[in-house]
Amino acid sequence: MTKLAVSIHVESHDQALADAADAARRGADLVEFRIDDFTGQPDQLLDLIKKSALPCIITCRPDWEGGAFQGDESVRRHLVEAVGRCTRPPAYIDVELASYQHDREMRESATGAVDHPGQTRRTTTGLILSTHDFEIRPIDLYQRIEAMVATPACRAIKVAWRARSLRENLEVFEIVQQRHKPTIALCMGPYGLPSRILARKFGALLTFAALADGAGTAPGQPTIDQVRQRYRWEAIDEQTEVFGVIGHPVDHSMSPHIHNAGFDAVGYNGVYLPLPIAPSFEQFSATVEAWTSMESLHFRGASVTIPHKENLLRFVTEQGGEVDPLAQRIGAANTLTVRRESGKVRLHATNTDYAGALDAVCSSMGIQPSELKSQRVGVLGAGGAARAIVAGFAHHGATVVIYNRTFDRAAALADEMADLGGKVVAARLEKLCHACCQIFVNCTSVGMHPDTEASPVPAGQAPTGWGPGTVVFDTIYNPIHTRLLREARDAGCMTISGVEMFVRQAAAQFRLWTGCEPPIDAFRKIVNEQLAS
Ligand code: NAP
Repeated sequence: MTKLAVSIHVESHDQALADAADAARRGADLVEFRIDDFTGQPDQLLDLIKKSALPCIITCRPDWEGGAFQGDESVRRHLVEAVGRCTRPPAYIDVELASYQHDREMRESATGAVDHPGQTRRTTTGLILSTHDFEIRPIDLYQRIEAMVATPACRAIKVAWRARSLRENLEVFEIVQQRHKPTIALCMGPYGLPSRILARKFGALLTFAALADGAGTAPGQPTIDQVRQRYRWEAIDEQTEVFGVIGHPVDHSMSPHIHNAGFDAVGYNGVYLPLPIAPSFEQFSATVEAWTSMESLHFRGASVTIPHKENLLRFVTEQGGEVDPLAQRIGAANTLTVRRESGKVRLHATNTDYAGALDAVCSSMGIQPSELKSQRVGVLGAGGAARAIVAGFAHHGATVVIYNRTFDRAAALADEMADLGGKVVAARLEKLCHACCQIFVNCTSVGMHPDTEASPVPAGQAPTGWGPGTVVFDTIYNPIHTRLLREARDAGCMTISGVEMFVRQAAAQFRLWTGCEPPIDAFRKIVNEQLAS
């Protein structure tokens, strides 16, 4: 079973001991003591190894391999020898392949310190041979792997490089799957998280985590709490289905929190990851094609956000997949579903934004979507969110009036959506105060963080009929209570926050992917907590 190792930068004996105890409390299986800056007190180091709350890996990484040690190589050699004689030896010593290959004395010290077929004294410590590149995938990667595998004293191999795209994670999975020897293979940097979390799915020897934010020893290392709680470490096995949010950027997306909590709640064998893809159709298409092609990855779907919603539609169409007709009409999709039938990949693209918005309005009003026929809806804005919402309401027969700062965009959108069912017209923003609609939806970005004092309905220009019986829905969810909603509530309107749309579009995705009923209340609670933090 893949182990979870917390990497600890050792500054002092006591700090490292306390950190190891903390790692144990947080559920780590072992710790890596990075002694790059703790080479002057070998006795304290041996005591640290002896008293560590968890089995440990000892690593003294030189600066030429991305570490902090800048001293003489003889210091590292003597430390390896001393650690090898420790009365309670470490689980592993990590030595760089380059040192082992090119420094005869280091090779002898390391070989003498660890357990291997030619070892004459009793020891349990294993040798990890490692190779790192902090810039790019090494061109001689497989030669390096072969050299490590062919070394009799080497018990486990470690390869790590900085990935330039999500696709490079797939090579990591293949390297781990080959299992010539127990393997640690990781992509570093912002594209590397899948390799770290899915290490368990593919049977790597271990993955590394940091004790806390900012305490990592390599770029892109998540914290142990994130690995275990947000990314469901203990639940991951060979069959785990993989989902994620594709966009650029996706670092602050709330979707991993929601969907992983959903998998927990219904006991679904899935994990949901942030999946950054650089903004171009070529990047999107090459990455998604590669991810869907790897059968053993079990990649089953993704939420797709800015700037790839149009790319998803084009990609699925070009691949001969199925596109939901309303998503086609909207011109953007936010949900990819990947199925395999008789070994063939079947792709499906849909747009749950409009479904989430309609669900938010209908459930707040206590009506069925079919009852929207009798409603008149004022939509503010004519951008991407407005397209989805206008299409959704018109499709269900509502009359829609589009108000937009740039009137021509409103008119063009009204023309495009004119034959969906309900009547769709454009009106000038100045006429908003005369609007007589039962439902108003803000689809502009006015009032969004950080400009939270702005409102798309200027003071004194609220529609004359605003009050009890009017519904005001703001698609903005940050802040939760926008100025528009606060003023509408004060006027007696029923108000709906963008959180409802966000939660319900996620719920629709969850249903599509898992066939299970999503825990909407838990989703809402998570979003509210995330927005408050
Ligand atoms: P977009 O395509 O850029 O469209 C922005 C719209 O806002 C345009 O109609 C634009 O009018 C209008 N606008 C911008 N600044 C304005 C100003 N100062 N005064 C008047 N109108 C202004 O953006 P989008 O993707 O549609 O997103 C719009 C909002 O929807 C965002 O706030 C986002 O948070 C929200 N949203 C929420 C969810 C959810 O799940 N809750 C999902 C998607 C989007 P012009 O045409 O005149 O430029």
